[in-house]
Amino acid sequence: MTEYSNPDIFQSDTSALSRLLNYVQIETTSNSENTSSPSSPGQLTLATLLVEELKSLGLMDAALDINGYVTATRPGIGPVTMGLIAHMDTSDAYSAKNVQPVVHIAYDGQPICLKNGVMLSPEDDASLKKCIGHTIVTADGTTLLGADDKAGIAIIMGVLEYLQRHPEVPHPTLRICFTPDEEIGRGADRFPLDTFGADFAITVDGTFAGELNFETFEAYSMDIDFTGVSVHPGTAKNVMVNALRHMGAFLCSLPAEKSPECTDHRDGFIHPVSVKGDAAQCHAHLIVRDFTEEGAKRLCALVEQKLNDLKQAEPRLVVRADTEFNYPNMMRFMASHAHLVTNLKQAVQQAGISPSVVAIRGGTDGANLSRKGLVTPNLFTGAVNLHGPKEWVSVTNMGYSFCTILNLFALYLDPPSRAPSGA
Ligand SMILES: [Zn+2]
Repeated sequence: MTEYSNPDIFQSDTSALSRLLNYVQIETTSNSENTSSPSSPGQLTLATLLVEELKSLGLMDAALDINGYVTATRPGIGPVTMGLIAHMDTSDAYSAKNVQPVVHIAYDGQPICLKNGVMLSPEDDASLKKCIGHTIVTADGTTLLGADDKAGIAIIMGVLEYLQRHPEVPHPTLRICFTPDEEIGRGADRFPLDTFGADFAITVDGTFAGELNFETFEAYSMDIDFTGVSVHPGTAKNVMVNALRHMGAFLCSLPAEKSPECTDHRDGFIHPVSVKGDAAQCHAHLIVRDFTEEGAKRLCALVEQKLNDLKQAEPRLVVRADTEFNYPNMMRFMASHAHLVTNLKQAVQQAGISPSVVAIRGGTDGANLSRKGLVTPNLFTGAVNLHGPKEWVSVTNMGYSFCTILNLFALYLDPPSRAPSGA
C-alpha cells in the first residue's frame, strides 16, 4: 500500500486551497438566540455550495436535509464504512463579516502585520515558528478566519477530489457529513444518524499538525435562580432580602482555584458564565467541567453545598438550581473502538509527523455523536488561534491531515489492521 507523506500533493493535486478561500468568505456565524436549524442563513448558502461541489466530485447522492446537514457517499471496498465530518458554522466570539483571507506563500518567519494593529509573531506563537516555509492563510485583522472548521471541510473535499482524480486508490466506503451549529453545541442534535450508516467517524476539526483528540471534558451546566424579598428600600430594615447581594456572595464563595483562569491540563473547573437580574430576583448560568464523571459530579455537588449553606444562613431567600448534563467525555466510548486510536496514530506517523494525543478542554460534536453510538474522535486541521483575528492555518499542515486520512483508508483495507466486525 502507498503511504502518503508528502503534504504538497494537497496543493498540487487538489484545488482545496481555493475552495478554502471561497468558503471563508461566506459568513456562517452561528446564532445561539435562534432555535431553528441551521441557526443562521449563511450556513445554508455554504451548504448549498457544498452539495454542488460534492456532486461535481462524483458523489451524486449529495443532499441537504431540512435541518441544514449536508450528506453524501463515496462507495468503496472493504469491511467498514467510515464517516468524515466537519462543521460549517464559525464561532460568534468574533466577527466573520466580509472575511478577506490573505495567503502567505513560503512563510519567511517574520512577524505578519495585519490591519487594526493585529500582529502574528513567531516570538510569541510557537506554532507559527514551526511553519517557516509553509503556505499560511490568515484573515486581514478585522475578522476571524473561519479555518475552524472550513479547513476541515476543505481537507475532506481535497480527499474526495484526489480520489476522483486517482480512481486507482482503494478506500473504504465513505460517508460525508457537514454539520451546522457546532459552535453553539448543537451539531449532534439533528445529525442524521439513522441514515448515516457509518461504523465510526472522524471529525476533522482539531488544531495543530499531529494532534489527535480521543478525550473531551465531561460537561454539565447549572442554572441558578435567587428570589429575595422586595420592599421599598426606605422601609427595608430587617425585611428586604436582596437577591443580587446574595448572588454576589454565592459567586465569591466558589473556590477561585477551581476556575478556568486557574486550571489547565486535566483539572476541572466551575465557571460562572453570566448573571442577570435585580434586587428582587436574579439568575446565574454556570458551566462545570472535568475529565471524569465523578470529578464533574463532585464539582456540581460543591456548588449545591454552597447554595445550601446560603439557604441555611438566609431561609427567606428562595433558591432554585437546575443541573443539566451537556456532553460526555468521549473517552468513555473509545475503549470499544481501540482500533481507531491505534490506526489514527499510525496514519499520522506514516504521514511523516509525530502524533500528539491531547485531551480537549472543551467539547466536540464527536462527544455527543459517540454517546449516540457513532464513535467519533477528532483529527487536526492545522488551524491555530481559533475564534479571533489572529486565527491562521498552515495549508502545508492541512496537507498532513489529508495524508493522514489517505493513510487511514489503507489501514482499514489491510486485513491485519481490519476493524473488528460490527466496529
Ligand atoms: Zn471547530
